[in-house]
Amino acid sequence: MKSQKTYPKAYSVEFFPPKSAESAAKLRETCAELAPLKPCFASVTFGAGGSTQERTFETVREIKQTTGIDVAPHLSCIGSAKANIRQILDNYKSQSIRHLVALRGDMPSGMREAGEFRHANELVEFIRGETGDHFFIEVAAYPEFHPQALNAEADLRNFKRKVQAGADAAITQYFYNADAYFRFMDACEKMGLDLPIVPGIMPITNYVQLARFSDACGAEIPRWIRKRLEAYGEDVKSLRAFGLDVVSDLCRTLLDGGAPGLHFYTMNQAGPTTSIWHNLGIQSKPV
Ligand code: FAD
Repeated sequence: MKSQKTYPKAYSVEFFPPKSAESAAKLRETCAELAPLKPCFASVTFGAGGSTQERTFETVREIKQTTGIDVAPHLSCIGSAKANIRQILDNYKSQSIRHLVALRGDMPSGMREAGEFRHANELVEFIRGETGDHFFIEVAAYPEFHPQALNAEADLRNFKRKVQAGADAAITQYFYNADAYFRFMDACEKMGLDLPIVPGIMPITNYVQLARFSDACGAEIPRWIRKRLEAYGEDVKSLRAFGLDVVSDLCRTLLDGGAPGLHFYTMNQAGPTTSIWHNLGIQSKPV
């Protein structure tokens, strides 16, 4: 059933810092196309170990200056020293940035030293200790559980640590099974957590890439979706039409079931996110 409701909730988008002049130009176009949708913020990823630090800074600066969209830089802590994180926080404060996504990150291959932080809760605690309430802090949540978690209970307890350390809200890893999200929300409520937990939405545009990402991050592509995507083979148009339909339905189910908004993993492309946005009848900034 396709509902035609409009949803006054919080919608945000995510970008990664481009690696070349060509991809930077593409991201500029993407931002110009998405800006009229008035997302409530745009987040920009940060390679663990500081691998994209300068490019993240540059991307944050440019989006802020050229689009007027509020920017929420990601900050991952694995492999980092406290002095370095402190400098980054000072840099963002000096640019009047007030919103961060705080993460552990994954050790880049070849990097051996974990640095001064082991888990994201330590980063959240550090940011609060250094900057008080200056930043609105988002953390990551995993409705299908983090791939390195000991078990589901331990992962939930670890999520709670991040909230207790001072997180204001969370964005989930992407998923295609709405029940995983609703069960996760129930478990959080039972633990007494009542922060907004916004589903991360990954549009479906490329099966091979999606399968690779999903294996790496522990997101499940349900068999019925996988089989359909495999069957499209080189027929990209049909695959994208199917992907748009499936993800738009997922978004409606999540919003109708009480999700406080949606966070789109744009992969630096405007088209897929815009199509879902229009399918849902999302108007603009949250009320
Ligand atoms: P944590 O919350 O530290 O959890 C990692 C693992 O450790 C989990 O298994 C957890 O159960 C366990 N754990 C947590 N705390 C403790 C504790 N105190 N004691 C024992 N065990 C614990 N990666 C990047 O490098 N850059 C990005 O910009 C980026 N953006 C992301 C944005 C979103 C919305 C999401 C969902 C993920 C993002 N990631 C990014 C990926 C993320 O860094 C990885 O998933 C990483 O493996 C875990 O990061 P985390 O912050 O969830 O870690």
